[in-house]
Amino acid sequence: MPYVPISPGNPADLRAAAERRWSAICAERPELSPAIDLQRQLLALVSDLASTLEQGRVPRLSLPPKYLAAKLARGVPAFAAEPIPLPVQVLTPVAIGLCRALASGGAAEAADHIGQAIETGSIDPGSLFSASVSRNQTAIRTGAVHRGLSADLVWLVAELAVSPYVHALQRRVLGGDHDALGAALRAWNRGYCPACGSWPAVAEVVAGRRTLRCSFCSGAWELQTYACIYCEHAGDEFVTAAPNEERKDRRVEVCRACGGYLKSMDAAELSPFPLLSISDIETTDLDVAAMEHGYARPALRDFSQRKGT
Ligand SMILES: [Zn+2]
Ligand SMILES: [Zn+2]
Repeated sequence: MPYVPISPGNPADLRAAAERRWSAICAERPELSPAIDLQRQLLALVSDLASTLEQGRVPRLSLPPKYLAAKLARGVPAFAAEPIPLPVQVLTPVAIGLCRALASGGAAEAADHIGQAIETGSIDPGSLFSASVSRNQTAIRTGAVHRGLSADLVWLVAELAVSPYVHALQRRVLGGDHDALGAALRAWNRGYCPACGSWPAVAEVVAGRRTLRCSFCSGAWELQTYACIYCEHAGDEFVTAAPNEERKDRRVEVCRACGGYLKSMDAAELSPFPLLSISDIETTDLDVAAMEHGYARPALRDFSQRKGT
């Protein structure tokens, strides 16, 4: 089943699971504890927002399952080029809170400036969140540079603030029970997320099953082929290796054909939202190892022009 629905855990269980994982990481790699302290603050804000959204009304998008099935069959993710209504009033204070957490976590002035720009309306939060949902890096970068703000940090703040909402939409839209959509999702064999089009942050391998995990909406899907997720190359240029001989449970898939890499880790279970970012931080040494060998994660794919093609 290529698209894998993951039930949301209850907040208390999620917190306990997160703390267990953070303690284990800190015990093994104490140098990561400042990064984990920051992640703890960010995830608390994201989790609270997810709970608020869970209690509220997730809007029904007018995306008929048959229309989505046809779109997926063309390789276009469900949300690409769709107008997605966003609860801007609910998301804005969270974005400002995220800036405060980032400021106290070392990004200091750069994060403060972004928080102020959102608070004063210098950045229009609705436009920012929409650009994030449509994965429009150019719009966010241009807007940030124009205001003298850190483009990477603006991207991160928007992504974190919008992620619980996009995650809820992903579950609502793709998790439904519909034959045509179900068949299109079973046939999905692309390296990018069928919901939002982002690349995976990591592959979580549970009992030998490699599941790609979306870096934005935490969507989960399996491929029918074992190949490079970026260029689909499956020959000798595609290699899976463990940089640390003693930790064969943590690997990188590298592709000499396109220069891309993907982190892959064995896990007891697929991380529920928003715990996937812990898998990401847990494997930062794999990013370093891959980048030292000249591999990189490619830019997001652009689906903005592909509606109706
Ligand atoms: Zn996604
Ligand atoms: Zn490749």
